Amino acid sequence: MSLNMSKERRMLVETLKIEGIIRSDLVEESFLSIPREYFVPEHLRVYAYSDTPLPIGYGQTISAPHMVAIMTEELRVKPGNIVLEIGTGSGYQAAILAHIVSKKSGGHVYTVERIPQLAKRAVINIANARPDLLDFITVVVGDGSKGIELFQPYDRIIVTAAAPQIPEPLIQQLKPGGIMVIPVGNKWEQILQVVIKNERGYISIKDSIACVFVPLIGQYGWRNEYDYT
Ligand code: SAH
Repeated sequence: MSLNMSKERRMLVETLKIEGIIRSDLVEESFLSIPREYFVPEHLRVYAYSDTPLPIGYGQTISAPHMVAIMTEELRVKPGNIVLEIGTGSGYQAAILAHIVSKKSGGHVYTVERIPQLAKRAVINIANARPDLLDFITVVVGDGSKGIELFQPYDRIIVTAAAPQIPEPLIQQLKPGGIMVIPVGNKWEQILQVVIKNERGYISIKDSIACVFVPLIGQYGWRNEYDYT
């Protein structure tokens, strides 16, 4: 099916700009260039440009566009950055980041997903939406709460699932001068935290907004998806 929802996409971006959520040219350009309709299940495509999360199967969701915009702005991602994302889901956030990092050589997004079927679907979604970005995105199946040792250190780390606390390995794998955004809290509500590692390796943490994410399940996250213990 060929899709053209570019008018709806432009309208959503205008709204997010008026709301003060999209603030930078890089994030605006990236939102305009990634068709969200390719990242949602086919029967939900009419809602692709409603500013709401949508189910993507396996009890998981694609985040609302405003949340993707807030996190991308807080991350201050730059062309050429090496980025680690925990929680690939649909692959939409990874594509938004990849558009930005791909503008300068060396840029890459490593993204980890614990549910293999979602990881596979995410690659298909990216291939349908923006095949040119496949060169800049590596999807890995595994427990991202441990980070990915192999490709570290990262300029930026973005966690798109709710963590009970900031996983220590992620702090270790962040470059000096790097930034991480991560929702931290209980199973009902979290605060988006912005973690900054300065050039000397010192950590400072700033609270951004309240948010609600699906749980980060793993060694440094919640133990299971039922009682979040
Ligand atoms: N960023 C996604 C939305 C993520 S929803 C998007 O743009 O669509 C959160 C995802 O995190 C879910 O797919 C869930 O399966 C995954 N997840 C939860 N715990 C994880 C872990 N420890 N490692 C990797 N992925 C995890």
